Amino acid sequence: MAQKDYYKTLGVDKNATDDEIKKAFRKLAHQHHPDKPSGNAEKFKEINEANQVLSDKSKRAQYDQFGSEHVNQPGAGGNPFGGAGGFDFSGEDLGDIFGNMGDMFGFGGGRGGGRREQRGEDIAVDVELKLRDAVFGIEEEFSLNKLGQCDTCHGSGGAPGTKVDTCKTCGGRGQVVRIQHTILGAMQTASTCGDCRGTGKKPEKECKDCRGTGTHKKIDEIKIKIPAGIHDGESIRVTGRGAAAPHGGQAGDLYVRIHVARDKNLQVQGDDIYSEVHISFPMAALGGEAKTHTVEGEVTIKIPDGVQTGELIRLKGKGGMRRGGARADHLVRVTVETPKKLSRTAKKLLEELKKELE
Ligand SMILES: [Zn+2]
Ligand SMILES: [Zn+2]
Repeated sequence: MAQKDYYKTLGVDKNATDDEIKKAFRKLAHQHHPDKPSGNAEKFKEINEANQVLSDKSKRAQYDQFGSEHVNQPGAGGNPFGGAGGFDFSGEDLGDIFGNMGDMFGFGGGRGGGRREQRGEDIAVDVELKLRDAVFGIEEEFSLNKLGQCDTCHGSGGAPGTKVDTCKTCGGRGQVVRIQHTILGAMQTASTCGDCRGTGKKPEKECKDCRGTGTHKKIDEIKIKIPAGIHDGESIRVTGRGAAAPHGGQAGDLYVRIHVARDKNLQVQGDDIYSEVHISFPMAALGGEAKTHTVEGEVTIKIPDGVQTGELIRLKGKGGMRRGGARADHLVRVTVETPKKLSRTAKKLLEELKKELE
């Protein structure tokens, strides 16, 4: 396996910031998406691979040090989580996400074992949002490299135009019954017909693009509406957008788990949002106006006279979005700054003030 230059693939500098990598990836992914006239599946795959490594701090560090052969890539070449920038997915997370969501949606324990119904696998992806977008909602787009329905046979597994016959093995019942003669008498066992995989039908000729399975790997362009007021750690289920099922069965679901990025100016507590304001102590005494941040950007707020450090100024309806659409409050935590360096005039004035207040 040759060493790959992921930086070159994305056309960024070795010292590129996360943001630059994200931007470069989005641009290239857009340009080379296989659904586009300018698309190129091979190139798209390379871009995805480069992004998956460079957008992940630990993988990037590993890559910088040891090169592409040593980067731990989950399912190299066939990684189903070809997420766009910021849609990070690391292999180790899979179990946890399914574990948690299993509790949430009540399909715990169903993965991989037990019932063998012809349903496609569920897929989980992670999406990181800015706080603002979590509050107001946003439409997210990303591409997912997954097992999809075969375009040639539309999932049937039969070559186009071929006749579909009743399965001769099971006579169309989808099950084969075997009678075993034992010392206790005749015992009857039924099992899924291996020839038609339980469908009861068999195409005369198999589709050669999917070898009769009805599925193959493809890139799915996912567009989802993230509702306003979503919280960090919550998931959205997109029914039927998981992996396709073999032989035209029901597709699995896609779970989009939301991560809300930390905002350097804002803290979140439930639906309430907090910010800080630092004011001089004359302003604390006299009142005035000062600037602070909210989810809607920088705003000017009124400082009431006599405000103390630690006091909260409430901006009604400027916080997070509650379920049902009403806005929670925004709270501004006040810090009164005591001046450390005083001009001669300031010192004189403060001494006069001190006397006045004594
Ligand atoms: Zn096919
Ligand atoms: Zn059969």
